[in-house]
Amino acid sequence: MSLKKMRQVFYDNETFAVVSHINPDGDAIGSSLALCETLKKMGKKVHMFTEGAIPIHIRFLWDDSYITDTPLEKYDVCVALDSGNKDRFSSFESLFDSAKTTLCIDHHITNTYNYADINYVEGDASSTGEIMYELIKNVLEIPLDKKTAEYLYCAIATDCGTFKYSCTSAKTHRVVAELMDEGIDVNYLSNYLFDYKTINQIKLYSEGANNLRLYEDGKIALTYVDYKFLDKMGVSFDDADYLVTMPRTVLGSEVGVYIKVKNDNEIKVSYRSNDYVDVSALAMELGGGGHKKAAGATVYGKTLEETIDMVVEGIRRVL
Ligand code: 5GP
Ligand code: MN
Repeated sequence: MSLKKMRQVFYDNETFAVVSHINPDGDAIGSSLALCETLKKMGKKVHMFTEGAIPIHIRFLWDDSYITDTPLEKYDVCVALDSGNKDRFSSFESLFDSAKTTLCIDHHITNTYNYADINYVEGDASSTGEIMYELIKNVLEIPLDKKTAEYLYCAIATDCGTFKYSCTSAKTHRVVAELMDEGIDVNYLSNYLFDYKTINQIKLYSEGANNLRLYEDGKIALTYVDYKFLDKMGVSFDDADYLVTMPRTVLGSEVGVYIKVKNDNEIKVSYRSNDYVDVSALAMELGGGGHKKAAGATVYGKTLEETIDMVVEGIRRVL
């Protein structure tokens, strides 16, 4: 499916809703804001819908002017961004379904559902932000500006792990070069997006290090934090995510697992792999999804130790 097919939908309609996945990350927020800015320039009416807290490292860029208390009963178009399936934008599902035309723009390889009228899923793209650049610049042909470039930088740089992950391509760098031509300050953006942490977030690192467990001669590295510790530290469930890549940085590990116990019934499992294990398949077995080297799922009704046993057993089978 070509992205070009979406051009007329954007030009021929007037009211737009932009939705992205629950507990949004830099890609979901950055891509959504970039699209909202662009639609505003095109003279369209646009509302953005997001569920869950804006992560602390993105707040410096956050703009709530597209959020509304009075959504339209029905939008001409609803655009779903960075959402591998409809469950990912749970509470906006009826809003999405009621739109005259629905679009999906995404980069999750597990997104095979074709849940929108027009779907564009590019599994090789580093981020939804990279696809949004293509859409805005080459399909809609709306010039970028500094603000839009900052949003796209946030989307791209966060999802490709500051250009370290294997999803980073030569094209990713070319796109970022174009964003820099708009005058974005990469040093300023990177400080907020990647380096600054609250003191209690940093203290969380030692909890994660203390809880680290190794299995299978260190090929599996796993750690966890629970809500009691997060509550004590005043760090939100989502802001604890910056630890997510820590387990896979243990030398010799192939799969890193980061587990966050949200409450006595709900546990978030995040997988990262270093080389050959396809963690999206493991996450799908637990009802989640994602990418080959970064995926996640939520487990209900199991204890921490039961979850750890299940996760480690799943990885053992594919090592
Ligand atoms: P994280 O582990 O950082 O939450 O997510 C890693 C990747 O897996 C992201 O691309 C994210 O969209 C995807 N992912 C995480 N949790 C889920 C889930 O519960 N369902 C699906 N379909 N994808 C998920
Ligand atoms: Mn993404």
